[in-house]
Amino acid sequence: MKAILIIADGLGGRPSDCGGKTCLEAARSPNLDKLARRGALGLVDPIGPGIRPGSDTAHLSLLGYNPHRVYTGRGVFECLGIGMTVQPGDVCFRANFATVTPSKEGVIVKDRRAGRIASGQDQLAEALNSIKLEKKLGIEFEFRASTQHRGALLLRGKGLSRYVTENDPHKVDVKAPEFMPVEGHDNEKTRRTAAALNELVKHSYEVLHDHPVNRQRERDEEHPANYILARGAADLPHLDSIETIYGVSGAVIAGGALYRGIALACGMERIDAPGATGGLDTDLRSKANTALKVLETLDYVFIHVKGTDNAGHDKDAKAKTTFIERIDAELISPLMERIDWKTTHLAFTGDHTTPIDYGDHTVEPVPVLFVGPNVRSDTTVALGEREAGRGGLGRFTGQVLPILFGYNNWAPKFGS
Ligand code: ZN
Ligand code: ZN
Repeated sequence: MKAILIIADGLGGRPSDCGGKTCLEAARSPNLDKLARRGALGLVDPIGPGIRPGSDTAHLSLLGYNPHRVYTGRGVFECLGIGMTVQPGDVCFRANFATVTPSKEGVIVKDRRAGRIASGQDQLAEALNSIKLEKKLGIEFEFRASTQHRGALLLRGKGLSRYVTENDPHKVDVKAPEFMPVEGHDNEKTRRTAAALNELVKHSYEVLHDHPVNRQRERDEEHPANYILARGAADLPHLDSIETIYGVSGAVIAGGALYRGIALACGMERIDAPGATGGLDTDLRSKANTALKVLETLDYVFIHVKGTDNAGHDKDAKAKTTFIERIDAELISPLMERIDWKTTHLAFTGDHTTPIDYGDHTVEPVPVLFVGPNVRSDTTVALGEREAGRGGLGRFTGQVLPILFGYNNWAPKFGS
């Protein structure tokens, strides 16, 4: 048997999105509708009813883990997702290049994204990685750039702690705060970790502000990438791998580092589809082709698409609807044609609702579709939020991957 899990980030919507319909209901999606008629629908609360999901915690829950127990923070998934090796004891951060100006009180943040810098990041990362922290701290670090201003930062050394605050003020024209122990966690480890971070960002200005890449940016009247902001401190979570739990192996196909990182932490392989960007411009046909290739050798594949959520955050109903139509035509259609439906189960869902009017994640459950030879089909005829509410699977919490694997007879028995 083979299994395919597709998560369209922020798929869910509200009736206000498209004049009385959600984007999913408004989108022309004949292939998803056909699958709905063949399979069964339900509504899933990604983490639980009334809990507003983050993408990381929601994914853990949909993959069968209890985020309340295993989640340590986002930074570790970012580090894993851009290819860093994370060891127990390391502390990881999401980091980004920013533009600051020094002042008597500290550095003032002028642009949290350094003009969305699009070239030269690797040279700047190299300069950063040449910084030597004070020997007495005994802490090493690595910074790696990813897309635009984004990157990840990893600290390694004895006695580190993830209970430190961030230096991102989340607004401009204010001072970047110092790293500090999180309230209630003032101890030797958190003080050491905060001291190393404060020293690192201080040196980051010294090595970056006069860097040739930034001198050129200033000549081009672009914001220099002269500082590092770090947030989302996390250490390695304790997760039993999917292979350990179910005895099957699979791979992730995702353009976004966060999603690759989560899947890697759960024991999936990373397979890159050419042209996958983690945005609205991603190459969905390439993802479909790559998934079909993965299934030639592995048991299952997890495909993540991000554009639906990006459009929701941008409050752009047309972009979200168009992207769902593209998913239907460029991802679902080629899979439908080439999957062996006698031996394959497929699940399609979202990790939360991202309505157009609100522009961020909300608590409503999201539609979920299961299709394949062992699925008891229901009477639903189209994939949409309200249609899913009438579906044969009812409403449940998380666990989409375990349910999908259950159809394949891969689920371990609880009890005897
Ligand atoms: Zn999400
Ligand atoms: Zn989002």
